[in-house]
Amino acid sequence: MQKGNINVTAQNIFPIIKKFLYSDQEIFLRELVSNAVDATTKIKTLASIGEFKGELGDLKIEIKLDKEAKTITLSDRGVGMTAEEIEKYINDIAFSGAEDFVNKYKDQAADKGIIGHFGLGFYSAFMVAKKVEIFTRSFQEGDSGSHWSCEGNPEFTLENFKKEDRGTDIVLHIAEDAEEFLEDHRIRQLLNTYCKFLPVPIKFGTKEITEKDEKDKEIKKTVDDIVNNPNPAWIKTPIDLKDEDYKSFYRELYPMTFEEPLFHIHLNVDYPFDLTGILYFPRIKPNMDVRQNKIQLYQNQVFVTDSLEGVVPDFLTLLHGVIDSKDIPLNVSRSYLQSDAQVKKISGHITKKVADKLEELFNQDREDFAKKWEDIKVLIEYGMLSEDKFFDRAKKFGLYKDSVGAYHTMDELREKLKENHIDKDGKTVVLYAANAEAQHSYIKKAEEKGYTVIIMDTPLTPHLVQKFETALENISFARVDSAPVEQLIQKEDKDKESALNDEQKESLKKSVEAVIDAKRYTVSVDSLSESEDPVLITMPEFMRRMKDMEATGGGGFYGMANLPETYNLIWNANHPLTKKVVEESDEEKRKSTIQQANDLAMLSQQLLKGEALEKFIKRSFELI
Ligand code: ADP
Ligand code: MG
Repeated sequence: MQKGNINVTAQNIFPIIKKFLYSDQEIFLRELVSNAVDATTKIKTLASIGEFKGELGDLKIEIKLDKEAKTITLSDRGVGMTAEEIEKYINDIAFSGAEDFVNKYKDQAADKGIIGHFGLGFYSAFMVAKKVEIFTRSFQEGDSGSHWSCEGNPEFTLENFKKEDRGTDIVLHIAEDAEEFLEDHRIRQLLNTYCKFLPVPIKFGTKEITEKDEKDKEIKKTVDDIVNNPNPAWIKTPIDLKDEDYKSFYRELYPMTFEEPLFHIHLNVDYPFDLTGILYFPRIKPNMDVRQNKIQLYQNQVFVTDSLEGVVPDFLTLLHGVIDSKDIPLNVSRSYLQSDAQVKKISGHITKKVADKLEELFNQDREDFAKKWEDIKVLIEYGMLSEDKFFDRAKKFGLYKDSVGAYHTMDELREKLKENHIDKDGKTVVLYAANAEAQHSYIKKAEEKGYTVIIMDTPLTPHLVQKFETALENISFARVDSAPVEQLIQKEDKDKESALNDEQKESLKKSVEAVIDAKRYTVSVDSLSESEDPVLITMPEFMRRMKDMEATGGGGFYGMANLPETYNLIWNANHPLTKKVVEESDEEKRKSTIQQANDLAMLSQQLLKGEALEKFIKRSFELI
């Protein structure tokens, strides 16, 4: 028997690993199972190129729990290791500067994958085991087996051991503080998280199934419980899959979800990097739980992470599904993932693929695309706002619904608006409503004037209109309630005929200001058409947009959301009522008519509240 010291610089590396990576304890299983998968893949490859001529046999990996002995055993029929290989790959851990590493990452101990990053995959076993044994026999001729044992300190023993079959058994003697891992359900849960789609069948116990024999008689049978699906949909070729296959894979990924995805994108690239996967577009709705059904990142079918923030553009993290790339470094820390050049390229590529798919869906069946639009538009707007490249691509498929339900692309819309939405400076003015119901009266008035009103009702609207105004030429946006309809699109400089002279206007303005909260309302007397209401309340576009932008986070001016809302209160100089008010000689009567008219305007905007509302009602009763 051979005794020796594992070559690490820090004597006390095991306690350190255990302590600092405590929160990541559970990854030991992923590390050991993926080593078994690697060994199995290797023997398959060797057989396929004729380097290994023996029987491959049953290649499944098996995991066994022994509660009494307090062990977990992982067995594979992979390449195995010779004693020399154990020396080389297990004993000599390339682990210089161990202390440096531990000091550096102390604070980030919770960060996933530090271990793998430093090639310590196998040693993660010591996070849960006080003793680890390897029983292994190499596929190489002449090897009859070795037994390695180590008790969580840098000393190990290595001896010859007659092992019957090729392959490796790893036996973990579970430590007292890790006994949860001797529970069936705990291991099952870990296998489900990390090993669900590993390419080699993984057996964990047995299960009973009922089958029918030739005589249609039901018979019970005990079979291996294979916990993974070694052939997940994303590694198949798209032509071999039907729509139903994609849907059932979605259910396989997210068994707790009943909602179906809207459509999918099958990624299948081998140049300039390797990338496969299936992304699903979910229905985006208010209050959806974005932490659910996150995109899962795999490397060669080994689960890496499902926190992709910073790895793919934020808006894509709203998608569901799987991304798998051999080029993604396995088990690396997240900060490393985010800065990896290869990962960046993959992220850019995914953005492009998503845009391609949307364009394709739009071109193939525009009607169907429009039907889905309401459910995906928030995601697309989000992408347009955060990725300039995506903004450009979205010109082809981004849709804008008008108040009569027709969908237009931005180009089509501009073409349509050419007729009567051009203002005196040659700008196209897009009129929009953020809430078709609340702004109904304004929409109606705009429609009557022959205008087209676009419904833009997501929380991103103020940001999006701002983006359009800066990214496109000669365009501006005005919400339908930002001004009286005839002032929404300023056609010519010429003043409109007024029924009042300047003196009358000035005096009316003063009377109105005397009865209203002048801090909230800016009063003006404007010459509007006779058919327009006598008194209107609007919130100027700029003001409202800045407030909205800040309220939804980002953009706008800091502190704006907390400012009191201020409005324009406009008296229509050309309305008969206004004339009546101006000509009224009874001071009291004049005052109460002004108040009544102001209140009605406020009421229509749901701005009349509390005491003011009470007074209004009282006054109204008196009047009738
Ligand atoms: P990595 O997997 O990144 O190489 P590990 O620490 O997980 O690092 O494993 C170290 C090495 O030990 C592997 O590269 C492999 O050569 C060997 N090894 C570990 N587990 C097995 C196994 N089950 N069968 C054969 N070789 C193994
Ligand atoms: Mg490994």
